[in-house]
Amino acid sequence: MRLILMGPPGAGKGTQAKYVAEKFDIPAISTGDIFRANVSQGTPLGVEAKRYMDAGEYVPDEVTNHMVRNRIDEPDAKSGFLLDGYPRTLAQVEELDGMIAFTGHRLDAVVVLSCDPDELVARLLQRAQTDGRADDTEDVIRRRQEVYLEQTAPLIEVYRERGLLIEVDGMGEVGEVTARVLDALAGVTQS
Ligand code: ADP
Repeated sequence: MRLILMGPPGAGKGTQAKYVAEKFDIPAISTGDIFRANVSQGTPLGVEAKRYMDAGEYVPDEVTNHMVRNRIDEPDAKSGFLLDGYPRTLAQVEELDGMIAFTGHRLDAVVVLSCDPDELVARLLQRAQTDGRADDTEDVIRRRQEVYLEQTAPLIEVYRERGLLIEVDGMGEVGEVTARVLDALAGVTQS
């Protein structure tokens, strides 16, 4: 199964990604998590990424694409993967198309979690208190929402046109949302 999980910051992608990946026995690949791991280890990639992340901006496509390509090449991703937080730009969509085509497979579905804008901000501010993520301050949250609307929301139409889009209501309890996502994916045939 090759899946993408999309949605605005705060929609619950990371939370749902874990459950969905487990269900299909595939790795959940989160670009945000990989960047954060690099930041905390102080790698050159982390040093570069941090400048953008702290401002709520996207890390440049070349950097992100290269990182995802390496991750997808790892043995555990051969039979499938769930991408959380990638692609986020049209250039990344094209790059991912190339990566998947190269393996002779295809993308099976793109799940987009939708959520009320006020609820999104409330969740992120809540997370700021519990997790202390550097980019969960009010200004940076606002910037991340803008960047999502400008650069990532248009991807929804791209995948809709390809007939891959599955829209899921991301409001409600975590378990309810997971059930909706799994329900929606039950009808998807795997390549
Ligand atoms: P969010 O909670 O906003 O969905 P993530 O944890 O997925 O955040 O990502 C955190 C940050 O990592 C983003 O704001 C961005 O700077 C960077 N990042 C993650 N994925 C990508 C990507 N595909 N392209 C560019 N930058 C990315």
